[in-house]
Amino acid sequence: MDSSQTDAVASGIHFRATDAPSSRLPKVLRTEKPASAPETTISGGCAPKIAIIGAGMAGMLMAIKLQESGLNDFVIYEKGDEVGGAWRDNTYPGLRCDVPAHMFTFSFEPNPAYSSRFATGPEIKRYFQGIPGKYGLHSKIRFKTSIEKVVFDQGRWYLITDRNEILLADIVICASGILRQPKYPDIEGRDSFAGDSFHSARWNHGVPLGEKRVGLIGTGSTAVQITSAIASKVEHLTVFQRTPHWIFPTPNRRYSRAERDFLSRHPVATKALRAMYSKLFQWTFDRALTGGKWMQRIVQWQCNSHLKRKVEDLSLRKKLTPDFKAGCKRLILARGYYEAIQRENVSLITAPIARIEPDGIRTADGNLHHLDVLLYATGFDAHQFLRPMQVHGIAGAKISELWKEAPFAHRSVGLPGFPNFFMLLGPQSPIGNYSAISVAEVQVNYLLTLIREITSGRCDLVEPKAEAVKVQQRKIQQQMPNTIWLSGCSSWYLNEKGKTAMWPWSFQRFDAEMRKPVLDEYAMSKRSAAEPVTQVLFAKA
Ligand code: NAP
Repeated sequence: MDSSQTDAVASGIHFRATDAPSSRLPKVLRTEKPASAPETTISGGCAPKIAIIGAGMAGMLMAIKLQESGLNDFVIYEKGDEVGGAWRDNTYPGLRCDVPAHMFTFSFEPNPAYSSRFATGPEIKRYFQGIPGKYGLHSKIRFKTSIEKVVFDQGRWYLITDRNEILLADIVICASGILRQPKYPDIEGRDSFAGDSFHSARWNHGVPLGEKRVGLIGTGSTAVQITSAIASKVEHLTVFQRTPHWIFPTPNRRYSRAERDFLSRHPVATKALRAMYSKLFQWTFDRALTGGKWMQRIVQWQCNSHLKRKVEDLSLRKKLTPDFKAGCKRLILARGYYEAIQRENVSLITAPIARIEPDGIRTADGNLHHLDVLLYATGFDAHQFLRPMQVHGIAGAKISELWKEAPFAHRSVGLPGFPNFFMLLGPQSPIGNYSAISVAEVQVNYLLTLIREITSGRCDLVEPKAEAVKVQQRKIQQQMPNTIWLSGCSSWYLNEKGKTAMWPWSFQRFDAEMRKPVLDEYAMSKRSAAEPVTQVLFAKA
């Protein structure tokens, strides 16, 4: 047992007991023979044991805020061996955050060391990796532990790991991220490619790209950053574009040493920068995406003139001009792509891909594009949210059933029939072109209010009332057609049924509504009121 595991055990959440009497297991776990089982009696009520899933930005934030509230009985379960989530997994060349660096920090933990307006991936990763040390979280994180199944039984949550252990918690907070499951294109012959190939989120740094003929599938935010970064370094780059995307020009600039020194001596200045950029993004992109017609026109005009300014060749410009409104697909905030795509050693291919062959990509016009390396910047399965983790609520209710049409969450954090199970950056979070950190901060404060209802002893279990969920969902669905995401394009904002799991209003409205949780929207009960599970759910042998 490693030290983090010992601490987790000490905190009382993680139980390991191969010899626990089976009569102590909940009915649901007794139906098949588990490899391990909880052995300790659990105290509930005033000191809930909290399991956080994921040690990315949101999971660490939750942990910090629980600690600040005097709630130390929590463990973070992390699949990987480092913290950082998306900023740990994505290491592709050119990776930068496309919201300004000083806006992309916790509000209470500014980072005056950021080297430029749009911070690089490694800088952001360093920032997040410094958090556990500074906030004493190391002993609270149990690495290399993937939670595969979460089952509610008689008022408590049983978490089953990839090692078939059973962990126990009163409250589960899932902070496993949105864009985390790489999506590979369903193209014939994908496995036949003879060279190296990998997804942007699983970059293989062992494969040198210099002097290679590199193919890149995709033209979204990731592909644009990769293209700009590698175009001048490879022998030839072939970019396969299925659909052009709009690019809003965002000038970057380096912060001088004097500026960074100034910011580190004057935290108030760093906070002011954060506030300024946050307002700027709220007034511009956030408005443009959620129905602000004038702002949408301004954003559109900026994107049009950026393209016209940078691409003089009319036939190339036509190829790069989308047939949908700016923001319908995720707006790309970048510079340098149009210059890169016009380099002599770069080709933009717009003929559809017919198949992948050992030597390269064959397009529908019959041409074979010879490649040594093939890169997939084909995005993520954004509608999976918690899945493939299986979550079973009261009476075995499955989250996948609840989300059959499209994922949703009450106030973006909770689900009816799943007491004490909460999400951060869950469905219907306002994640358009805004800082996910600000969104998570709002959600964490909201959750603390709900958790206080438990710690105060007023109840053991909190879940959104079905009626409140219905009312809120109706309002969201009524507003959705006014947003840009349903204005006529396909994107990762929409699932295969054309439904979106976005928040259809501004971040400001989200913030205002979440600041004052309406407790009446929640059913609060004592543990005895919970229904027992009646189905066989524990399937892992
Ligand atoms: P994405 O926006 O989903 O783009 C995927 C690209 O792959 C699209 O161009 C898509 O074409 C193409 N594609 C997918 N399947 C294909 C197929 N079978 N054949 C040909 N082309 C195919 O993914 P992403 O660029 O990785 O970005 C995902 C999100 O990550 C962004 O929207 C953003 O939220 C986030 N991100 C953020 C930053 C940042 O700076 N903060 C940077 C990168 C990414 P179609 O357009 O035709 O579907």
